[in-house]
Amino acid sequence: STILVTGANGFVAAHIIADLLSSGYNVVGTVRSQSSAEKVLAAHKSYNREDRLRISTLIVADITIPGAFDNAVKIPGVDSIIHTASPFKLVVEDNERDLLIPAIQGTKSILESAAKSPQIKKVVITSSFASIVDLSQGLRPGYVYNEKDWNPVTIEEAKKSVSGSYAYCASKKLAEQAAWDFVKGKKDEISFSLTTICPPKIFGPANTSPLPKELSLLGVSMKEIYDLVSGANKQAVPPTRFWGWVDVRDVARAHVRALEVAGAAGQRFLITAGRYSYQEIVDLLSNSERIPKDVLENTLPRGTPGKGYAGDFVYEVENEKSKNVLGMKYHSLEESVVDAALQLIAVEDHR
Ligand code: NDP
Repeated sequence: STILVTGANGFVAAHIIADLLSSGYNVVGTVRSQSSAEKVLAAHKSYNREDRLRISTLIVADITIPGAFDNAVKIPGVDSIIHTASPFKLVVEDNERDLLIPAIQGTKSILESAAKSPQIKKVVITSSFASIVDLSQGLRPGYVYNEKDWNPVTIEEAKKSVSGSYAYCASKKLAEQAAWDFVKGKKDEISFSLTTICPPKIFGPANTSPLPKELSLLGVSMKEIYDLVSGANKQAVPPTRFWGWVDVRDVARAHVRALEVAGAAGQRFLITAGRYSYQEIVDLLSNSERIPKDVLENTLPRGTPGKGYAGDFVYEVENEKSKNVLGMKYHSLEESVVDAALQLIAVEDHR
């Protein structure tokens, strides 16, 4: 079977595609430009040889246009969709133009196209913990977030917010909500089931090879680890704003499991390994036996070792449903951040 993956050049999508290909699926990846298409094919080049053509790309320049994916969903063999494409930026000029419209309209347009194609059986959307967390509740000690929770933010609040990360969270919530509303409204007409995957902060190594030499081009996730290992945050360990985390390889696995497990249809999943803080990451990096002692000596901030970990003062995140239904197992925070740091250190060494 062939899976259509939108935003194929992204940090998360690169791992989803690698997992799909190694699990035996074929992939059609959509991207916005020819240069992204070339990067995707290069990143998965062992599956892109003449005798082994398992991945191809398609350019969808503007995902917000109605019918944008009409051709993509009709490609012979495509029976499922993983929609990851959505702006992941926390600093923007215009909340509507830069976040809300592409997130919400992009989601609607892939579903509208899918609804016109009876060959589509499953749609999995990359949502976020951003669509679960209630930002107005702050740290919410004692509370346990799970799939039943919804970020209560409205489109009006999102439009006028001066905070980019608030508007980003709203874009994810409103896009996911639009997806569930769409399948509810069309349940007698569509041939596919919907599953949404809600990861909190995603860490772990990039699967985009090679890693961009210009490290400022890294996505938000890798950039946060880079800012720690490169010395950009030498003075202090920044406080954490979102306390849940998950490894990118586990996020990819969850998307693939969502295609495979019958019980995943019609469900949303909080995909998380638990809680973290930057102080905990810094401590793990400085104590890791896999990183030579002198490498981060002058760059890694130290903060106050052992302090400021997620404790009684902050909400918890639950992963029972993901374990029970999808069979998820999770990487440890140490594996995740050390793997990412080693990759970043290797790039720095070759500059
Ligand atoms: P990346 O920035 O690496 O990838 C985002 C992808 O979406 C890219 O392919 C990008 O294409 C595409 N995209 C962005 N804006 C648009 C747009 N306006 N029109 C079409 N495509 C667009 O980020 P991630 O891989 O981390 O994010 C992937 C998904 O995971 C997103 O839906 C994000 O919200 C979600 N997520 C990420 C988390 C994280 O911590 N990383 C946490 C929870 C959810 P282009 O390169 O052309 O801009």
